[in-house]
Amino acid sequence: MTALAQISEAEPPVVTRVVFGEADRRARTYVKDLCKGAGLALREDPVGNTFARWTGSDPSLPPVGTGSHIDAIPNAGSFDGTVGVLGGLEAIRALQRAGYRPRHSVELVIFTSEEPTRFGIGCLGSRMMGKVLSVSDALALRDKQDRGLDELRTSAGFCGDLDLVAIEAGYFHKFVELHIEQGPLFEQEGIDLGLVTHIAAPASLQIEIEGEGGHAGARLMPGRKDALVTAAELILALESAARSTGAVDTVATVGVCEVFPGAVNSIPSRVRLETDIRDIDAARRDGVLESLQRSCAEVARRRGMSIATKLVNADPPATCDAGILAAMEASARDAGATHKSMVSRAYHDSLFVARIAPVAMLFIPCRGGVSHRPDEYASPRWISTGVAVLARTLAELAA
Ligand SMILES: [Zn+2]
Repeated sequence: MTALAQISEAEPPVVTRVVFGEADRRARTYVKDLCKGAGLALREDPVGNTFARWTGSDPSLPPVGTGSHIDAIPNAGSFDGTVGVLGGLEAIRALQRAGYRPRHSVELVIFTSEEPTRFGIGCLGSRMMGKVLSVSDALALRDKQDRGLDELRTSAGFCGDLDLVAIEAGYFHKFVELHIEQGPLFEQEGIDLGLVTHIAAPASLQIEIEGEGGHAGARLMPGRKDALVTAAELILALESAARSTGAVDTVATVGVCEVFPGAVNSIPSRVRLETDIRDIDAARRDGVLESLQRSCAEVARRRGMSIATKLVNADPPATCDAGILAAMEASARDAGATHKSMVSRAYHDSLFVARIAPVAMLFIPCRGGVSHRPDEYASPRWISTGVAVLARTLAELAA
């Protein structure tokens, strides 16, 4: 972990590894060399997703997958993603040392660009793998220097037809991702491991409200078309729609509210809202989304406003596989590790792998819940417990 953390665009211990940048490429080489050292067979797809396979005794069976990402946002730490990559490799090496021979192959995956830093979209590699992002949409992505995905991936040495990144359902027998919690609960509760039963996913609706501006004094209340007052109604409507599901897992947020012209003595003529609605149940989340869209239509009609909506994304949440969860729970018990079931409120590559394979995630604590910061920390004991339970789980699933 320490050696990988030295490979950074910033001065260590600050970790910055933006996908296809110089540090990302060096980090890939470092991890691939470790995989070769463990006798794993390497393959890279046209977007740079990397597969390192420990061939099982029956190579015709679909592999059991594990893995995560090694890219890191600017000014990050050394554990997000890397625990799942180096931990996955260490789990394989531990099984090799123990003389275990899997029947299914075990495949370590290093996903390209889990972080949205360069292209503004998270989980690029796994999205394409799970066919959630089409090749034409991927080719339209550009970074802040206006360089496209095609130019950047080829300059990083990844070529070939991007259509080949998509993987068919059935490719993986099962997939497990080890990751840090990125929240404070386990450390506070003294829990070694979280067994992730669901991965929540966001839907994001952009709302543009167009009314009529005017002088805040001269224009009297009757007949006003105030875009911000309209926005206020919609914000409250979203809150009430999210509350009305009665489920703790339904959450809705309006995180952006841009007001035009934004002057104290001017009636707001235009407002842009960005909303984020999350749940572990797709139908329930989409119900809140539809209710918000109905409110937009109703409020627009009643107030005589023009309201345009644009669905930015609506990723499906994932329900984790009962078989993997049972294997993880038995492994945790065997290892004497305290554990609890939980929902992952943030999303990870596994959310998109879930489109093509049964998945689950295993979380380890991180100090103070701190993540995406240089002082992100997971203790050697937390990591080794996670790796030991991952190894037992992979052994069970690959048997
Ligand atoms: Zn991560």
